[in-house]
Formats: sequence, structure tokens, C-alpha cells
Amino acid sequence: MPRPRSTPSTAPIQRALRQKFHLKRLRDGQQEVIDRVMRRLSTLAVLPTGAGKSLCYQLPAVVNGGLTVVVSPLIALMKDQCDGVAELGISAVQFHSACSAAELARAEQALVADDPLILFTTPERLADADFCACLAARGVSLLAIDEAHCISQWGHDFRPAFLQLGSLRDALGRPPVLALTATATQGVVDDIVELFDIPRAGVIGTGVYRANLHYRAEAIGRAEDKLARLLALARATEGCGLVYVATVKAAQEVFEALQAADESVGLYHGRLSASQRHEQQDAFMDGRVRVMVATNAFGLGVDKPDIRFVLHHQIPPGLDAYYQESGRAGRDGLPAECTLLFSDSDRSVQQFFLSGRYPQLQDFEAVLQLLRSRQGPWDEAELDTALDAIERPRRKLEVALNVLRQHDLIDPTAPVDLAALVNIAERYGHKAESDRASLEAMVAYAQSGRCRWQLLLAHFEPSAEHPRCGSCDNCARLARHEAAEAEAPDDAQPPPQIELPAFALGQPVRTRRHGVGTVKAADALSVTIEFPNGATRSFQPQFVAALNKSRAAPMSA
Ligand SMILES: [Zn+2]
Repeated sequence: MPRPRSTPSTAPIQRALRQKFHLKRLRDGQQEVIDRVMRRLSTLAVLPTGAGKSLCYQLPAVVNGGLTVVVSPLIALMKDQCDGVAELGISAVQFHSACSAAELARAEQALVADDPLILFTTPERLADADFCACLAARGVSLLAIDEAHCISQWGHDFRPAFLQLGSLRDALGRPPVLALTATATQGVVDDIVELFDIPRAGVIGTGVYRANLHYRAEAIGRAEDKLARLLALARATEGCGLVYVATVKAAQEVFEALQAADESVGLYHGRLSASQRHEQQDAFMDGRVRVMVATNAFGLGVDKPDIRFVLHHQIPPGLDAYYQESGRAGRDGLPAECTLLFSDSDRSVQQFFLSGRYPQLQDFEAVLQLLRSRQGPWDEAELDTALDAIERPRRKLEVALNVLRQHDLIDPTAPVDLAALVNIAERYGHKAESDRASLEAMVAYAQSGRCRWQLLLAHFEPSAEHPRCGSCDNCARLARHEAAEAEAPDDAQPPPQIELPAFALGQPVRTRRHGVGTVKAADALSVTIEFPNGATRSFQPQFVAALNKSRAAPMSA
């Protein structure tokens, strides 16, 4: 049955939208999300950055009143959001480690007196039992989780502290949750809906495709030639752009090369001080710096609409990360270029990162041993120091600690549940395998002769059919090929198969990364190969070597 055009709840929404936010209408996706949030239903909103995610909690906060708690991974981001809300005339406060005593005192006052109130905080702060109890006593109307993919170990921005949010929500009296993210893969969505008990009907998204982003990938044989190519591409594109690199060392090198070439360039990575990072980000945001060279530390919450190009100097760890990073281009809807440069050495850099990521059984055991080494509870600062003293990677220990807490395995009076530990460690083993598969998918994307958008969409929405985009490098090659064929006079010999070898159905071939396989389909632009493990991948012909000269059954294009 069609819904009535004006349900009783739409009038106050429309009024608040006009009067408070000075907007005429809600955008795609926002309407559906806000409709659920107004009815206090838990929701996961998968909206591209720039689609107006914050309105999805701000508007219900204004109309429904009460206390809205917004959890955010970045303090810098929170400050901007808080200021933005306050400018709209809505009471907003923040609680985190960078607040001054005066700010905290004012925030505490607002927490008692103001309604509606939007409170921004970090997961670490929320984990403080006194603070959490204080919020629970006031009563939380909505718990909004910004950048919610950080809870998922399948996501590329995994933050161990986000894992606690499930149990913290319980401590807050189980308010409805609004999880917000731009990352839409199944693994990430599954983790978020599981942690917060969000029904499948509560997952709202606006799709992945953005026609203004033009994708291409270039193989650069020698790593040292990349810098020259990068510089040429940056110069050839007007407007400001981002260059993503995989390591701090590479960031420094690329930055120096661009600087030496007299480019207007900034540098951003996790080893700069907070004030340096802030300064660099500001310079880029207000246009004093045209090109920003950055590691993936740059980006969460960066909302600059007029980025005209995103260049990847190395292969990112997977298509999720690639889509999110490249998707920072062209948020104003105008054309933007997304280019991936890659060489053979890229993959080993990512493999090195993967090896340090997940806790192993030894990490869980080390943390448990530490927790059991004393009677009574640990103070967080003491625990912090004690973790430092363990000779295992710090990050793995932190993840292990949070996982143990999440699974209620830290009670010192209960016997150690070894079976549960082994089970959890195995799960992380599977995640490591899945990361390796993500990296392989990324490499396959780089080498593929198929439409880049088809490849990206197949990753995010595997069940649907996707047309060619017509704007990526591979679509352009196909168009040139077709134009050349159309121009050839009817009586002329068919054009030679360019300079590429023709591949026959069933012919054994070799690729550098995947070894030997059999040709399943081929034309002048793309060769699809089946490998002995059953996997099928397509390659540009230049990445495929014939293993024999059998041309008994040449395939037509
Ligand atoms: Zn295409």
C-alpha cells in the first residue's frame, strides 16, 4: 500500500530542516535514514562522504530532543563537527583528552541543563566507567557512531577501541544506534550490524557508482620511473590533488621530489606532530598548498569538495581502501581523475604491513598472563605501561586486550578458557588470509583489461550486473580500438592484432603473479585466464605470456 504523502511526523522535520538547517529538502539516502532514526530504530547508513551524514543525527536530535551521543575516531574532526552544530544554534559539547578543564566544566553543566544536546566523544572516553554511568543516568536518546567501519577488522581503518562500543552501548541502557560509514563491503556491514543488532532492513545505502570519477591504472616497470610519471600527471591536471603513498619513507621521498620540481606541495603522515599535521591539513584545505602527499593517516573526516585528482603512488591494501581514498576526489560532482601507479615492488610493502596486523595466540596469552599477575583491577595508565614492557608488537597486544574484554575472558577468578582463545586466534588467522585475498584483488584490478568501474562495482555489489562506465582507461582503449576498426575500409585487410599476441582458447599461458593458467576468453584488449585453483582473472594482454605456439583455434575478438 502506498504511504500517505504526509505522515504526521514529516511536518516538524520539514520545519526544522528549513528553520534550523536552512535546507529545502533532504538528499538521497538521508530521508530514509532520518525516517528510521526518528522512529528510534537502529540503522546503518552507508553514505558517501559529502552526502550529509551528520544531518542524519542532527535533525532527529532537534526534533526528538534528548541527549545524542556521537562517537568519533578523531578529535580534530570532532572539534569541527561540534563547532558546526553550535553555529546552527544547537547545544553541542565535546568530551575527550584534548579538552581543557574549563571546556569540561562547561560541558558538564550542559549535560545537566541542555535539551536537545549533542555530545561528541571518543570510544576511549566513553569506556571510562564514571563518564559512561553519568551519561546513562541522564539517558541517551541516540548513540551515533561516526566512521563506523573502524569497528570492523575487515575495514581498512580498524581501531581496537571501537570494539568496545557494543558493550558500552549496553552500559548506556541500549539506546538506538545510528552507525555511519562510507565503506560498504559485506564484511564491514556484517560486523557493524552484528555488534549493534541492526536488522537487515536497517542497512541504508545510496550505491557506489559516481560517474564523475575517471579511473585508470598504469604499470610502471621500474620503480624509479614512477616519480617522473607522477610529476607529469600532477602537472597535467589542474586544480588541487592528493598523492597517496604506502609508507612514511615514500611520502618523504615523493614530497621532496615534488618540492624540487617547484610544485606547491604539502606532506601529511602519522609521524608528524599533531600541530604539524594540523598545519599541513589547513594549508591544503584553504588552497595554499595544491598537492598533498599523504599516507592513509590523511583523510578521515577530510571533506574538501574540489579535489581534482587522487594519485596512488603505490598499490593500497585492497579495493575498499582504494575506493575510499580515491573517492575523496570530485565531491563537488565535477570531473576528477583517479590514477593508480603500480610496480612489482608495491605488493611486498603491503605484505609487510599485513604480517604485523593481527594478534596471535601468544599475544592473547601474554595479555592474560599480565592481567592475572595481580589481584584486583588494573588502572588504565598502569596497564598501559605494563603492556609496553611486553616484548610483542604493541598494536597486537592492544587488539588482544580489547578482544579478551569483548569476549568476557579477563575474569582473573575464572580458569583460562584455552579453547576459546584458540578459537579466537584462528579467527584472526582467517582474517589475515582474507587480507591477503584483498591485496590479490587489488593487484588484479591494477592489471585488468576490464572497465575499472565494473571491477569496483563487482567488488561492492557482486550480485548486480554493471554496464561499462565509458570513461575509464580500459573503456577508452576499447573505444579507440572500435573506432580504428570502424574506420578501416571494407576491402582492407583486417588490422593486424595490434602488436599483441593473439591467444587461443585453451592455450596455456603464464602471468608473473599467478603463474601458469589456461585461456578461457580473449580479445585484443583483455585475456581471461583460469588457474589450476579454479580462480578466473582477466588481464591486459601485455601482462600475459604465451607458453606454446599453438594457434590451432584462434579466437575472434
Ligand atoms: Zn570503464
